[in-house]
Amino acid sequence: MRIDIITCLPRLLEGPFSDSILKRAQEKGLAKVELHDLRKYATDKHHRIDDYAFGGGAGMVLMIEPVANCIRELKSQRDYDEVIYMSPDGQLLTQQVANELSLKGNIMILCGHYKGVDERIREHFITREISIGDYVLSGGELAAAVLTDAVIRLLPGVLSDETSALTDSFQDGLVAPPVYTRPAKFEDMEVPEVLLSGHEKKIEDWRFEQAVQRTEKRRPGLISKSK
Ligand code: SAH
Repeated sequence: MRIDIITCLPRLLEGPFSDSILKRAQEKGLAKVELHDLRKYATDKHHRIDDYAFGGGAGMVLMIEPVANCIRELKSQRDYDEVIYMSPDGQLLTQQVANELSLKGNIMILCGHYKGVDERIREHFITREISIGDYVLSGGELAAAVLTDAVIRLLPGVLSDETSALTDSFQDGLVAPPVYTRPAKFEDMEVPEVLLSGHEKKIEDWRFEQAVQRTEKRRPGLISKSK
């Protein structure tokens, strides 16, 4: 899978992809993340990428030309399954959306900044808009990093234990059960007996029960949705 991210702040995104799981996924050749500096696609000599909003008001708007140039150049190199704009009014990012995107081949992600991007980009170039939650960030970069992480960790071979992503919260309409590790006893705090029993079936039943109880308590909406 290939993810191209268009941003005016590429440095903000260098960190998340150069460590841990996202780095390994790229080293193994399972995913490729490329950052594209919007400023390189500016058309005037000052490398301007933003301008005042028509009609007035506070805040700058990302200009249509640099963004269109960048999207067009990338499209001339390969086909894209989705051209995504990160936006607070987009479709809410859920595990289901991440699952769906993980099946795609090439994805482009546009990070907005300031007041956002010229609406004509959204109308004519963007195929999908995604929000990471009902709050406003100062730029799309952190949102794009969240989306990219959620998608890449689902690619087969990325997580060392392949079943691991399947047992995470939301995959089966439930949140994850509690987990413990050594030592079995810390001060007077003990690990539930059943987990030490070595009895696979009992452990599986206990985990399922815990997941259901937790979901009912913490995310009751999930259960009614999956019914
Ligand atoms: N004026 C816009 C907000 C602009 S915030 C509005 O009120 O809707 C600047 C940029 O940050 C946006 O263009 C978008 O790319 C990104 N952004 C902000 N909040 C986001 C969120 N919750 N999810 C995804 N992207 C977000």
